[in-house]
Amino acid sequence: MSEKMKVLIITGPKVTQIVEVPRPSPREDQVLVKIDGCAICTWEQRVYATGKYKMPFLGGHEVVGHVVEMGGKVRTKEYAVGDRVALSVINSCGTCYYCRKGEENLCVDSYANLSEELGMNGPGGFAEYKVMPPHKLWKLNADMPWEFGTFSEPLACVCTSVDKAKIALGDDVVVIGGGIMGILHMLVSKLRGAKVIMSEIDDSRRKLAESLGCDITFNPKEKDAVAYVKELTGGRGADVVFDTTVFSAVAAQAIEMTGKLGRCIMYSSVKPADPIALNPDELHNTEKIITGSVSPSIQSFDTAVRLLNKGLINPEKLLHGVYPYQQASEAFETAVRPGTYRVVVSF
Ligand SMILES: [Zn+2]
Ligand SMILES: [Zn+2]
Repeated sequence: MSEKMKVLIITGPKVTQIVEVPRPSPREDQVLVKIDGCAICTWEQRVYATGKYKMPFLGGHEVVGHVVEMGGKVRTKEYAVGDRVALSVINSCGTCYYCRKGEENLCVDSYANLSEELGMNGPGGFAEYKVMPPHKLWKLNADMPWEFGTFSEPLACVCTSVDKAKIALGDDVVVIGGGIMGILHMLVSKLRGAKVIMSEIDDSRRKLAESLGCDITFNPKEKDAVAYVKELTGGRGADVVFDTTVFSAVAAQAIEMTGKLGRCIMYSSVKPADPIALNPDELHNTEKIITGSVSPSIQSFDTAVRLLNKGLINPEKLLHGVYPYQQASEAFETAVRPGTYRVVVSF
């Protein structure tokens, strides 16, 4: 009999289950990781709340573990058995047009089912063990609390986004939304030498952003966001706007508050995706760039781990709590409550 491991799956709306499946063993070119914990991100929250995904759903893509076995043909010196590592589990095929261009975040097969062998669906981080290709593991600083490592993936997404924004020293950057992604955008933009203005309706989130170094925060229910950003930027509008909210109406405002030559990044997925009007003549006259950002590349994952390992980004205030997998339903219930920051499930 092969050894078993426990996995945490979603089997329907608001239903989680712990089941036993065969523990994977690494091929010669693979690494076996014992998972320490995995954060519950928006994707998993959505599937938990709605049950809308092919079931059973084995989610989990913000994963930390330690190396327990390396296949005989794994030659890396970057980490060894016993080391703690961050896992990048979103698929990149390595052969498609975008992977070949080094834009793995746009891989045509990025949502490949990595739990197929278990008869399940999803990236598979909510498990005791996972086999990984060596190039998708990053060694984490042993002095850092392991939970911080679960921020590698979301921070990597933010690094991709910030790279696209091409922030220059002294730029005026607006971050719309003060959730985890908004705060991470603020922190990385500050590292890039920007003055950061955050628009957020929740008082406690604004206070947290300020305590972490955000220059100006305001409540868009109390102020006309576009007019206020223009007022703060000498009438020009912002050099960079990151929209981390899910509303089409806010996306329209984000574009409007972006100044000439500015870059407006649609960071979050927008649901429902109601179309918005664009003024082509305004684009012509302002040369502003409107684009999006999705998922991390290998390069941005690398950057994110470096920022965490060196303590340049400290995610402590964004961590709500850690729940052992036996308390999975409590963990998910907490994670879906509005206003909760990251909830991590430990294994
Ligand atoms: Zn995520
Ligand atoms: Zn690809």
